[in-house]
Amino acid sequence: MASGPGPSRGASSGDEELEFTVASVWREERVSCPHVDLLKAWLGGSLTGGAAEFVAFHVEESRCPWCAASIDALRAQDEDASRRRLEDVRDRLLRSTISALRATRA
Ligand SMILES: [Zn+2]
Repeated sequence: MASGPGPSRGASSGDEELEFTVASVWREERVSCPHVDLLKAWLGGSLTGGAAEFVAFHVEESRCPWCAASIDALRAQDEDASRRRLEDVRDRLLRSTISALRATRA
């Protein structure tokens, strides 16, 4: 079945040129910037497999300035949110401690 002469596949001298083109397009046009939701998922550690590798490469290896800015913004939001959550927990803890103290003293 597969014993025919077939077309020769060894004539791929344009490979390096192609890679170069893809890399420049990537940098100049931001073609492969992951969506901000993807960045968020990656930051939160919920991204796995190829998508996580892709984002990690894009952010850490190619150091995309646009995505770095997005990540900075996401991290700032995240810190805000977790600080608020922490204050909420502290508040609730304090209230339950007070009521526990009242309960034991009563
Ligand atoms: Zn990017």
